[in-house]
Amino acid sequence: MKSYKYLFFDLDHTLWDWDANASETLFDLYHRYDLGKYGVQDEVTFRDVFFHENAKLWADLDTGKIDKFYLRNNRFRIVMEAANANMRSVNEDLLVDINSNFLVECSKKKKVIDGAFEVLDFCRDQFDLHIITNGFEEIQSIKMEHSGLDQYFDKIITSEKAGHKKPSAGIYQYALKHTGAVLEDSLMIGDNLGTDIKGARDFGMDQVYFNPAKNSHQEEVTSEITQLTQLIQLLDK
Ligand SMILES: [Mg+2]
Repeated sequence: MKSYKYLFFDLDHTLWDWDANASETLFDLYHRYDLGKYGVQDEVTFRDVFFHENAKLWADLDTGKIDKFYLRNNRFRIVMEAANANMRSVNEDLLVDINSNFLVECSKKKKVIDGAFEVLDFCRDQFDLHIITNGFEEIQSIKMEHSGLDQYFDKIITSEKAGHKKPSAGIYQYALKHTGAVLEDSLMIGDNLGTDIKGARDFGMDQVYFNPAKNSHQEEVTSEITQLTQLIQLLDK
């Protein structure tokens, strides 16, 4: 691989272990609010339905079909309906409460993707490290701080700050401008083919696709890894 000076990492699912942290939070919430009594079968059902519905909502958010307020205000109603809860017994206050506790508690969880600190320790002296994320501004900084990831990064570029979301060129443009990075010496590392990888590629930035599930695809990528620590060999000069 050619040599780079600036590394841009995605946060959720790339460094911060969204699945593990969200799972833990949802299991807690299931029991605290006794969601069984509303007809949600068990904590695993609640978690699985949430993952499924939330992914659909985020895909709509990434393509601009909905905004973050729609997502926040409707997410748990959609989840409860899809989990076959008896909606006549579910009131609006409960849904608002669950959503705000989910946001606060999940963002304070500390699990990172396997190998994240090893990779960042290797990278910190050799590269300028930045984050580019479509996550919510106020949530992403809490995640970074509580997980200890914040100590490695110079700038956290969020879509809210940039006024553009990945895969739009605008967020990459903004990232270069606000970090002083040079396009030819920059590399984007992320788990989402549509936003991280295609976005960077269309902008002219090299990319590493982090694909732990080994999903098959037809996209052209600069490099692909299934474990974060493979980055060390790729970047070793
Ligand atoms: Mg991601």
